[in-house]
Amino acid sequence: MDNKRDRLVRGTALDGRVRAFAVRTTALVDELRRRHDTYPTATAALGRTVTAAAMMGAMLKGQEKLAVMVKGNGPIGQITAESNAFGEVRGYVTNPHVHLPSNSLGKLDVAGAVGTEGFIDISKDLGMKEPYRGSVPIISGELGDDFTYYFAVSEQTPAAVGLGVLVETDNSVRVAGGFIVQLLPGLTDEEITEIERAVGSLPSVTALLEEGLEPEEMLRYLLPDAVIMDELDINFVCQCSRERVEQTLVSLGEKELERLIEEDDQAEVVCHFCNEAYVFNKDELQVILDQAKS
Ligand code: ZN
Repeated sequence: MDNKRDRLVRGTALDGRVRAFAVRTTALVDELRRRHDTYPTATAALGRTVTAAAMMGAMLKGQEKLAVMVKGNGPIGQITAESNAFGEVRGYVTNPHVHLPSNSLGKLDVAGAVGTEGFIDISKDLGMKEPYRGSVPIISGELGDDFTYYFAVSEQTPAAVGLGVLVETDNSVRVAGGFIVQLLPGLTDEEITEIERAVGSLPSVTALLEEGLEPEEMLRYLLPDAVIMDELDINFVCQCSRERVEQTLVSLGEKELERLIEEDDQAEVVCHFCNEAYVFNKDELQVILDQAKS
């Protein structure tokens, strides 16, 4: 793994009629691999999903946040990723210990792990009473095409999405990243054809990252006249804390807390997102029980 920090750039081209994002997520995906002990195929599936989520997070503003749930019928179970406009990303999979033989292209078989049937559900908390929800069927399971389909169908913005994760022989992440090119209204057929040609002729995202290209260079590879508007550091951040877990325990109610104290002597709560374990001993549980009673 290289030591470069994870960065995302946002740019526009063709007088703002094209909006594009490119990101390196190598450190993020390796952090998730380490925390969740994902095997290579699971690492690639989770890595592609959080990479898409990181870029979709960059489309948000202020305190808005986003959740992506990939619910396929493959052995990995559900992939969950969350992100926000500050570049904070976290994610996990139901079954991290999934590794399959390479597919016919010699690549990690992400579709085999995710499954080729199911749904991708997107939920955006935009500060309204109800979150925005979008859902599309899984069409390939390789995820890049599935997110492309999501943008076309659910957000009615045609887009090209590229996602890639390359895993080392020691299972660590060599490179990870991606791009999204969104076609906004007003493009001519010729311009669209030109963009499609550029996307089609792009070497894989992982090949570009392996060459050491920065996200802005990746973006210019696709859109030579792209203007970089801003950039954002991408980081693994989990919002869990001992205080939040305590509140969850309080909400279990008196009966369940009394049972925990009597039968188990302690309680261990593991955060799905970061795999951090919070342990509460008998005395601490007693304090929480008193809170639940008051
Ligand atoms: Zn956590």
